[in-house]
Amino acid sequence: MHEFSVTKSLVDLCNQEAVRNDMKEVRIINLKVGRFTGFSPDSIRFYFEHLKTNTRCATASIVFEEVPIKIKCCDCHKHSTIDEPILLCPYCGSNAIDLISGREFSVASIEGE
Ligand SMILES: [Zn+2]
Repeated sequence: MHEFSVTKSLVDLCNQEAVRNDMKEVRIINLKVGRFTGFSPDSIRFYFEHLKTNTRCATASIVFEEVPIKIKCCDCHKHSTIDEPILLCPYCGSNAIDLISGREFSVASIEGE
């Protein structure tokens, strides 16, 4: 259900951007989604199909760029990329972790005419 509200914001944002840039039809939305958000591209795509009608995004599709979860250990100072959103250092097991990337949810660009 979380994806519904973020997708709604996404459609609103892209629609506003299209109006501001005098773009009549948005074709492509390049979206960065950090894996730490837990958002599922499939769910976002599903809601998007419903929410985009009667907006300037009606013919648009989303291109997802998944941003991996990168962490830095505050104890052993090693950097790692992890698949699961579990903040533990794979080297020393410490949970004193800085999250470097993975929280992103942003529109990198929109394309259209
Ligand atoms: Zn460590």
